Amino acid sequence: MELHDPWRLDFQKGLALCPELRPAPVVSLVLPCFNEQEVLPETTRRLVALLARLEAEGGAAPGSAIYYVDDGSTNCTWRLIADYAAAFPCVCGIKLSRNRGHQNALLCGLLTAPGGVLVSLDADLQDDLEAIPRMIEAYRAGSEIVCAVRRRRDADSFFKRTSAEAYYRLLSFLGVQVLFNHADFRLMSRRAIESLRGYEETHLFLRGLIPQLGYRTSVVEFERAPRFAGESKYPLRKMLSLAWQGVTSFTAYPLRLITGAGALVSLGSLLLAAWALGIRVFTDQAVPGWASAVIPMYLLGGVQLLSLGIIGEYLAKVYESTKKRPRFHVESVCGNGFDKEKP
Ligand code: UDP
Ligand code: MG
Repeated sequence: MELHDPWRLDFQKGLALCPELRPAPVVSLVLPCFNEQEVLPETTRRLVALLARLEAEGGAAPGSAIYYVDDGSTNCTWRLIADYAAAFPCVCGIKLSRNRGHQNALLCGLLTAPGGVLVSLDADLQDDLEAIPRMIEAYRAGSEIVCAVRRRRDADSFFKRTSAEAYYRLLSFLGVQVLFNHADFRLMSRRAIESLRGYEETHLFLRGLIPQLGYRTSVVEFERAPRFAGESKYPLRKMLSLAWQGVTSFTAYPLRLITGAGALVSLGSLLLAAWALGIRVFTDQAVPGWASAVIPMYLLGGVQLLSLGIIGEYLAKVYESTKKRPRFHVESVCGNGFDKEKP
C-alpha cells in the first residue's frame, strides 16, 4: 500500500545525487523511557555495543552517546539510567519532573541532546537497531531527515495493526501529510533539529510536524520486533489521545465537514418546507404528521450538539495554546554528554 507523499525521496537516488559522503557525524540516540526497568539493561548493552561498532567502523564520530529521557517513571528506571551513566561514558540521562507523555519526552531529548545527528527510537527494542547504520549512511549521502518505516506490522496485535493502518489512511484522506507506517524512529540532522525548535505547539504530534520542516528526506525500511520485555506504555487512552492530536493539530477538515453538513441539512429543510407549502396550497391533504415535526427536531439537535462538540475541541486547543505553558521541565541530568559543543 503506497500512500506516500511527494516529500518522500528515494534513498538510492539520494546516493546517486550525492556520491561524496559527509564526514561521520557525532550521533546522539534519544530514547524516551517510562517505567522501562525491564528492558533498560538489554537496551543499554545493545546500544553501547552499536555505538562502539559504529565508531570503530567510522560510521559515527567519537563522542557519540545515548540519551535516555526518563518521562517521570515511578519505578527504578532513573536509578538504572544513573548507574549506566556512571558506568559508561557514552550513556547520559535526562529526568523530567513528571510524566509528560512520549511526544513531550521525545521533544525534550531532541532539543536537549547535543550531536550532529539525533536518532529517536523507543526504549523497548521494537525498532531495529540495524536500521541505524543505514540511516546514518543516508544522512551522509545528503539527507537531513531519515524516516524509518515498518515493512510489516506482524509484531503488533490485530487491533493495533488494523486501527493504526486505518488511522494513517484517515489522516491521508484529511490531507495531513504523514508517512505511512512511520512512527518516531527517525534520524534528524542538527539543522533539522534547530528548525524543529522554532515550532512552539502545545499539542505535539511529531510525525505530522516533521514533514512541515521540509529538507531532503529519505526512507529506510525495517522489520518491527515485538517488545523485548515489559508492557506497552501506550494504552488505548493514550493512543486515542495521540490520534486526536494528529487530526486536530494538522487539519481543520472536521470543522469544514460541519459547515458542509450544516449547509446540506439547511438546504434539505428548505426543500422540505417548499414541498409542505406546495401540499398546503395545491392539495387538501395538509395534515402535518408527527414524524415530520419530531424527527427533524431530534436530528438537528444531534447534529448541532456534535458540531458544537467539535468546535469546542478546537476552541480548547486555542485556549490551551494561548497559555503557552512549557511542554516539560527537566529535573536533573546525569552523564557527561551535555557540555559538548553543538556543531
Ligand atoms: N513512553 C514515554 N512516556 C509515556 C509512554 C511511553 O516516554 O507516557 C515511551 C516508552 O517508554 C517507550 C516509547 O515511549 O520507549 C513507546 O512506548 P511503547 O513501546 O510502550 O508503545 P507501543 O510500542 O506499545 O506503541
Ligand atoms: Mg513499543
